[in-house]
Amino acid sequence: MSFENEINLSKAFLQKINFPEKINVNVFVKRLDLIHPFINGNKWFKLKYNLQYAKENDYKTILTFGGAFSNHIHATSAAGKNFGFKTIGVIRGEEHLPLNPTLSFTSKNEMKLFYVSRSDYRKKDSTEFKDWLKQKFGNVLIIPEGGSNLLAIKGASEIPNLIEIDYDYLVTASGTAGTLSGLIIGLQNRKKVLGVSVLKGAEFLSNNVNHFTYEYSKQKFTNWNVIHDYHFGGYAKINRNLISFINQIEKLNDIILDPIYTGKMLFAVFDLAKKNYFMKNKNIVCLHTGGIQGIEGMKEKILLM
Ligand SMILES: *Cc1c(COP(=O)(O)O)cnc(C)c1O
Repeated sequence: MSFENEINLSKAFLQKINFPEKINVNVFVKRLDLIHPFINGNKWFKLKYNLQYAKENDYKTILTFGGAFSNHIHATSAAGKNFGFKTIGVIRGEEHLPLNPTLSFTSKNEMKLFYVSRSDYRKKDSTEFKDWLKQKFGNVLIIPEGGSNLLAIKGASEIPNLIEIDYDYLVTASGTAGTLSGLIIGLQNRKKVLGVSVLKGAEFLSNNVNHFTYEYSKQKFTNWNVIHDYHFGGYAKINRNLISFINQIEKLNDIILDPIYTGKMLFAVFDLAKKNYFMKNKNIVCLHTGGIQGIEGMKEKILLM
């Protein structure tokens, strides 16, 4: 596929991580954040087959959904610009000017932004709302929030093939569990797969995994778990502990984690290891799913702490 030429998977090296305290397992981070400056992390894998589908079915425009700081909206706008699709971002909430760094980037990529109220945004997956969008914008390919559909699951299922060592656990941050579902499918009951929820009370994540994996493969898998104890109060909520951990990890490893997804995931792995959740000497591979662009939007919150 032509899109793939732009993406450099060989840049996603596996980095052994040093922690501020000694732990009795080996933790590695698969650096999917490095495969492209803008279209990277799990978002590339989730977009890949959606872009291919758009091309094969002669869609000129891709429409998708997200919050004002969304990594998915950011990546989709860059993919559109790079690969020749028009893009429309349906953004939750009101327009705030000047545009934040995420949305200003999407505008440079000529993404058309369409703001909807929070209550309308909640209807985004309904047929009525999608039909209304199609009436308004014409024959657009609609990709759900976070990119999570079965084509995204197919893309994410290829991630385990890239991991070049033998390991026991594969860990990702989870927002919709699309990525987690893809990993589970790719591994076909091998290894153990963990999703660290970045949302509070996100019981729906397990339902999503059951739904996506069954829809995709008509199989049931049991080698996975959603961890619910490391959301730090909810989506994009942070505290000093988390930020100080992220800063220490950066100093020790020269790796940047974002406070919304990958920071919480690695914090979870470190804390679980200290609590002997894993057996001694196990190898744990964590995905760096990208999301670095979102740090800018969190800076104010971090400074106010
Ligand atoms: C979107 C995103 C996730 C969550 O992926 P899901 O497939 O929605 O669970 C994790 N990490 C980063 C950096 C993301 O941008």
